[in-house]
Amino acid sequence: MKNNNNKSGFYIGVTCPGCGADLELEKDFFTLTCSHCGSVLRIKMPQAPPAYLVKNTQTPREIKFNVDRYLKRNMLPLTAPDLQIKHLYYPYWKVEGLMLKVRNKVNERVIRDASEYQDRVISQVARTEIGISPYLVTVAAGSFFEGIPDSLGLRSEYVKLLPFSKENVQDGFDSLPVRRPYDKVQAAVLDSVKSVGEIDNPAFGTNLTELFHPNYEIIYFPYALVESYGEEGFDRFIVDGLSGRVVKHLTQFTLDEDADYTEIPPLDFGRLTVEYHRCYNCGKDLPDRHSLVYICENCHVLNVIDKSQYRINEIALVNSESREADILLPFWSFKIPEVLQARLEPLFGGIRKSDRLVVPAFAVNNYEAAYRLAKRMSAASPQLDLVPVETFDLRFRAVDLCLDKALVLVDILIYRAQLERQNTLKSKDESIVFQAEQVALFYTPFHPDNYFMVDSIINAITFEKNLVPG
Ligand SMILES: [Zn+2]
Ligand SMILES: [Zn+2]
Repeated sequence: MKNNNNKSGFYIGVTCPGCGADLELEKDFFTLTCSHCGSVLRIKMPQAPPAYLVKNTQTPREIKFNVDRYLKRNMLPLTAPDLQIKHLYYPYWKVEGLMLKVRNKVNERVIRDASEYQDRVISQVARTEIGISPYLVTVAAGSFFEGIPDSLGLRSEYVKLLPFSKENVQDGFDSLPVRRPYDKVQAAVLDSVKSVGEIDNPAFGTNLTELFHPNYEIIYFPYALVESYGEEGFDRFIVDGLSGRVVKHLTQFTLDEDADYTEIPPLDFGRLTVEYHRCYNCGKDLPDRHSLVYICENCHVLNVIDKSQYRINEIALVNSESREADILLPFWSFKIPEVLQARLEPLFGGIRKSDRLVVPAFAVNNYEAAYRLAKRMSAASPQLDLVPVETFDLRFRAVDLCLDKALVLVDILIYRAQLERQNTLKSKDESIVFQAEQVALFYTPFHPDNYFMVDSIINAITFEKNLVPG
């Protein structure tokens, strides 16, 4: 791809299996066409946490220039000529998940009578706010290294990544091993999530903060270690290998802080692979569309590209009179297993009890809106009459929320419905492990109506237009 300047955010460099060309894809991008040989390709994510590398872009000259600029700004003498520069890659864990927050608040409302002489009356309104938002954190994964930041901060969302491999580590660079094991990080992340809840004092009851299905990756980030032994003594600078910024200036340093993680066996990173995007049945190229579900244009066989345990054998459409302005939005539908029916059905009851939890199968950018839509679709599902889909046309929107992510929404849906019913619930009910009895995919027609999208069946399910990107 030539037009790199238009890319925003995180993207990954990969190699085309057809011709060996270097390609770049944006995060969550699933398919691409090689601009050199025309192969249609797709990315396969590994099961084990993958490791990425942010390539160093700072030359020794730029590093020296940046250190001198930093010194000048701080009115310090410039570097001695004997400057030593070492390059290294330091590992971080990047953890991403969905966070659900319950905050109990009391809002005060001042009610004042028109008469100046009367005392004002303050009424207190207790309310529980529940919110879902994405959560992202990076934490140091290597041994303690003085001056190297503990976290990458927000930058981890806006950098170009390469798969971490020997070939991608330049000569003269050291990459430090991962010393902080996965389970220690997991415990630390969960602790920090819980402590988020303790910062806000609840006005009543308990505030809750839960992290759902965190996902782990390793990111190697470049630093330059600049050391100078001048007349003034010893100086060490840690320079960010991407921006060139001096992140730390040390004039003396403590040796070996007690490392709490010593030897752990080398981690087996998951490798991201690129494969041809072809129909499993006839071998013809599938459309270069960012979707997990295709009906082959050649042999009409359904291709579902999903690594979860569930099998999707057919797809359906809600039976309706077709309108021109309709778009057909995909939903995953999870049948509630019999053992949980008595407990879950009342939580999602409409007039008729729903035996299914229905969540969007399209990527969403507002989890609050997605939650409300999932709740309404679950309640409405007994009213929907489904017919099989034989072929796709332009009204069918792409399926780009994988089943694993949809199951996160299911878990949140259950937990939140319980919270709304019983305000004594303290934490996730571990006795509910949702294993769907059966999973289906169906499309529902929606049409635009002012700022909203409204379903074209019962004209009652609405959501904000901006929930659907594009
Ligand atoms: Zn190619
Ligand atoms: Zn085919």
